[in-house]
Amino acid sequence: MLNDPDVDKQPGMGLVLRAARFAAWKHRHQRRKGKGRLPYINHPLDLAHVLWFEGQVTDPIVLAAALLHDTLEDTQTTVQELQGEFGEEIGSIVMEVSDEPTLDWRVRKKLQVTRAKTATPRARLVKLADKICNLRSMIASPPQRWSVERRRAYFDWAREVVEQLRGTNPSLEERFDQVYRQRP
Ligand code: ZN
Repeated sequence: MLNDPDVDKQPGMGLVLRAARFAAWKHRHQRRKGKGRLPYINHPLDLAHVLWFEGQVTDPIVLAAALLHDTLEDTQTTVQELQGEFGEEIGSIVMEVSDEPTLDWRVRKKLQVTRAKTATPRARLVKLADKICNLRSMIASPPQRWSVERRRAYFDWAREVVEQLRGTNPSLEERFDQVYRQRP
């Protein structure tokens, strides 16, 4: 199918596929925290799925950034590597949605709230989808050792971040509110 002329008409499709493949490789040894211990790549794929089907987001840069959004934070990937493979824009979106691993977790959580306020439009979409997916996972498959209090605190913190992102994509914000209502 290499000579299929339609391939050239949808350049964004190739970008999204390359991002999915890159992320799958980088996360290949990781599993999600929840009791289902799902392969890690299910999570970035969920984000892209939510953006497309629930947020009507068709921008390939956002979809690719969503697929790559945890590679800096959770794998050995560097920004230079991302920028080399996918361009500066995608590299900087992924940077925007990544925590600084050297900081204390409490500081990181607070920083997410303040940084959300000034995030760029594409990063805001990735953030929104991430929070929707994380809360859904928390309900479907909570991490085994997390108490109810800890899960509640996680829900509240996610909402605090999302409050800073309002006005980005009404249907995603509505989906977030729906899942927040299932707070344990
Ligand atoms: Zn994530």
